[in-house]
Amino acid sequence: MLTGKIALITGAGRGIGREIAKTLAAQGAMVVINYNGSEAAARAAEKEIIDAGGQACIYQCNVADHDAVKAMITWIVKTYKRLDILVNNAGITKDTLMMAMSESDFDAVISTNLKGTFNCIKHAARPMLKQRSGRIVNISSVVGRAGNAGQANYAASKAGVIGLTMSAAKELGSRGITVNAVAPGFIETEMTDVLSEDVKAALIQAIPLQALGNTKDVANAVAFLVSDEARYITGQTLSVDGGMYMG
Ligand code: NAP
Repeated sequence: MLTGKIALITGAGRGIGREIAKTLAAQGAMVVINYNGSEAAARAAEKEIIDAGGQACIYQCNVADHDAVKAMITWIVKTYKRLDILVNNAGITKDTLMMAMSESDFDAVISTNLKGTFNCIKHAARPMLKQRSGRIVNISSVVGRAGNAGQANYAASKAGVIGLTMSAAKELGSRGITVNAVAPGFIETEMTDVLSEDVKAALIQAIPLQALGNTKDVANAVAFLVSDEARYITGQTLSVDGGMYMG
């Protein structure tokens, strides 16, 4: 159980982040639902958690903005006196083949997915170091381990998240803070809704478990990694991908 724990989940108004927020709240955590542009979705996620008897609040912040992230985490620590769990889930895609990829599309994906994760770890580490405890989970992707044509920016950002995870685990481990990554495969959300039925059928053929995953599959893995039961696991990347990548 996560009773009494304060958790920040980035990009938690929609998709996988929302499911992670619901799952951690159901286990007793007070969850801060970070969002960037989708205020209505974040408010709906907050209401869903509170209606189910949980505790939640929302906070608007672009994770790519270093100073805004600092302000968000300062506010959380001032308001709730601590920060126990950080889940770096916020992410975007801007897919196209490399020859056609603009500099701004490369930079935007790296800024949100990789620098955003760095910004949040850097600022969350301070209160966690003082507490001498903390759990950080970064959402990577199967694409960060295996690569994917048309996703050079996204794959680079998600591979970067794995390197960042291992480095942070080494820097923070002596103070009781674990840092792990979860690498989802193809999960049914708005991010994958854009794929055609033909593309989805071809993808399913390549998955040993022969199905797309759902948001709950990812949230359950995150819930394990932030639990007391995972106290001796750090610097790892846990695939939740139906067996797509076996590295
Ligand atoms: P999604 O439905 O598109 O949701 C993305 C979330 O990220 C939204 O809540 C969005 O918030 C937030 N976000 C985007 N830019 C942000 C920023 N600059 N600052 C703060 N929040 C920001 O995506 P999803 O499928 O749930 O994906 C969640 C994570 O899982 C991402 O990191 C993604 O790369 C990863 N992932 C997904 C899959 C998949 O198959 N779906 C597979 C592997 C990995 P706003 O709407 O408020 O901007």
